[in-house]
Amino acid sequence: MIEADLFALESAALADAKTACADSQADVRGALAELIVHYERLVRESRRLIRRSDRAELEMNQMNRQLQELAGQLEYRATHDPLTGALNRAAVIDQASECLRQGDLALIVLDIDHFKRVNDDFGHPTGDAVIRTVVQCLRQLLGPAAAIGRVGGEEFSVLLPHADAGAALALGRSICRAVALQVFAAPVDRQITASVGVSWCPAGTSFDQAYGLADQALYMAKRSGRNCVRLCNATEDADAACCI
Ligand code: GH3
Ligand code: MG
Ligand code: MG
Repeated sequence: MIEADLFALESAALADAKTACADSQADVRGALAELIVHYERLVRESRRLIRRSDRAELEMNQMNRQLQELAGQLEYRATHDPLTGALNRAAVIDQASECLRQGDLALIVLDIDHFKRVNDDFGHPTGDAVIRTVVQCLRQLLGPAAAIGRVGGEEFSVLLPHADAGAALALGRSICRAVALQVFAAPVDRQITASVGVSWCPAGTSFDQAYGLADQALYMAKRSGRNCVRLCNATEDADAACCI
């Protein structure tokens, strides 16, 4: 397809001016006047095109910003639990697996005790408020950068990539104490507690094994009467664990 030359008239005027300039007999003033008319049109057209391209660039930048914002929102929704803002189960699995590829990992899992009774006695919305308060309590204790996840209905996890087993156990105890001391908004008129399971695994352990050990420790805490902490460490024998 042949493109129309936007400046065909100007090119013709320029060619005429060149011819007139080369020929001493020619009408130089006429050619110059013609050239001025077309030069002015050239400037007007250039300004219009620049304005249009500025507008297009502005719109493109705005659309880029909106796209980036949307991508951020999508990423957040894909990785966070809408009720509490904690990491969702898939994000916990991703982050824990990455931690275990790079180094050792201590994993804390906690489950609210007798939570069914909270729902039964006060209703589901109050149960939701209790779940949110437990996560706020964890955030207050561990700081805004802590990797807190909601891995089930009223079951949460904390990833501690730099902690040894002793430090993770101590933190598990602090978490257990903080939940037990937390005051919950009305109509909740009773103490809420959580049981806590802690696992420590060396680099290279699979997520399933690390989570399985923390779950085993959590189960032991429930069996020990709840509102307490148990720890299961990985051992060299993959089928055995060292639990306290
Ligand atoms: P245990 O001490 O053995 O953990 O007893 P429990 O009553 O807490 O038992 P379990 O952990 O099995 O019960 C979990 C209950 O949590 C069952 C389910 O109805 C409730 N639940 C799960 N997800 C949600 C939620 O998003 N909101 C509310 N309000 N309740 C939920
Ligand atoms: Mg429970
Ligand atoms: Mg549960």
